[in-house]
Amino acid sequence: MSKPDLSFEFFPPKTERGAATLLETVRRLEELTPRFASVTYGAGGSEREPTLTAIRAVRAASSISVASHLTCVGQPAAEVDRVARALWAEGIDRIVALRGDPPRKGALGAVPHPNGYRHASDLVRRLKRIADFEISVAAFPEGHPESDGPAADIENLKRKADAGADRAITQFFFDTDAFLRYRDAAARAGAGIEIVPGILPIQNIHTLLSFSADCGAPVPGWVVDAFRGIDGDAGAAHKVARDIAVKQVDALRTAGVDAFHFYTLNRAELTLDICAAGGLAAEQRAAA
Ligand SMILES: Cc1cc2nc3c(=O)[nH]c(=O)nc-3n(C[C@H](O)[C@H](O)[C@H](O)COP(=O)(O)OP(=O)(O)OC[C@H]3O[C@@H](n4cnc5c(N)ncnc54)[C@H](O)[C@@H]3O)c2cc1C
Repeated sequence: MSKPDLSFEFFPPKTERGAATLLETVRRLEELTPRFASVTYGAGGSEREPTLTAIRAVRAASSISVASHLTCVGQPAAEVDRVARALWAEGIDRIVALRGDPPRKGALGAVPHPNGYRHASDLVRRLKRIADFEISVAAFPEGHPESDGPAADIENLKRKADAGADRAITQFFFDTDAFLRYRDAAARAGAGIEIVPGILPIQNIHTLLSFSADCGAPVPGWVVDAFRGIDGDAGAAHKVARDIAVKQVDALRTAGVDAFHFYTLNRAELTLDICAAGGLAAEQRAAA
C-alpha cells in the first residue's frame, strides 16, 4: 500500500491554556508528516481573528502547511473576498471552503446575505478567481441535513468539484459502507475529486452525541453501547475509542482509501495512538 496522506483539523483555542495545548498537539502530530492541517472558522465571520491567530501559531511552531476554513453564510461577498485576499497575501494558499451554519439552528443567519454567496459552490468558484488556492470542500456520506436525499448530495458535490474544488473532506461517520457507497456514487456521477474520510476520534461519548445532535451525523447504537459502563474510566474509554477508529481505518484502507482527515479536537494522544495501532504512523516514518 502507498503511504497514506494524513491531515489534522484544529479549532481556534479560546484560552491561553488552550493555546498552549494546541501548540503541544501540533508539535506531537508533526512527526506524522501530515499533508496539511486545517483550522476551523466561525460561521458569519465570528471567528475570523481567532482562526488567523491559530493559523499563525501553528505555522510558527511547525513546518506543517495550514489551510484556513472559510465560511460565507451571513456575510457580504466583498467581505469574504477581502478575507480570502488577506489569507493569500499571508501565504495561506489552502482553503476549506464552506457555506457554514447559522449561529443558532433556525436563526436568521440561515438566510443568505443579500449580497453574499448562497452556496459553498459559489464561494469555491469565486475563490478560484481570486487566486490559485488549493480548495477542500465538505461532503456528507450519510446526507446533509438540508438535502433532498443521496442524489442531491452527490449533485452538490459535483457542483463544488466543477467549481474548482480539489478535494472533499467528509463529515464524521461510523458506517464505513455508507462512505464507500458515497465515494462510488460520486465517481459514477463524474465528481472526480479526492474524497477524504473525516475520522473523529471519540474523546468523549457525551460530547460526540452532542456534536451529532448539532450537525445531524448519526452515531449508531453499537458505538454508544461500546462506551456503556465505562463512564469515568478514562483508560478504558481511550481503548474503546482507539479500537473503533482503527477498525474504521483498516476497513477503509482495505477498500483502497489512502487519505484520512482527523478531527483532533486539539488533542494529540488518541490520534497518535490510532495512527500507531492502525499502521499509519509506521508507514509515514518509512516514507519520510
Ligand atoms: C470537513 C468539514 C469542515 C467544516 N468546517 C466548518 C467550519 O470551519 N466552520 C463552520 O461554521 N462550519 C463548518 N462545517 C460545517 C458546514 O459549514 C455545514 O455542514 C453546512 O451546513 C454545510 O456547508 P457546505 O459547505 O457543505 O454547504 P453547501 O455545499 O452550500 O450545501 C449546504 C446545503 O445546501 C444544498 N445546496 C447546495 N448548493 C445548492 C444548489 N445550488 N441548489 C440547491 N441546493 C443546494 C446542499 O445539498 C446542502 O444540503 C464543516 C463541515 C465539514 C464536513
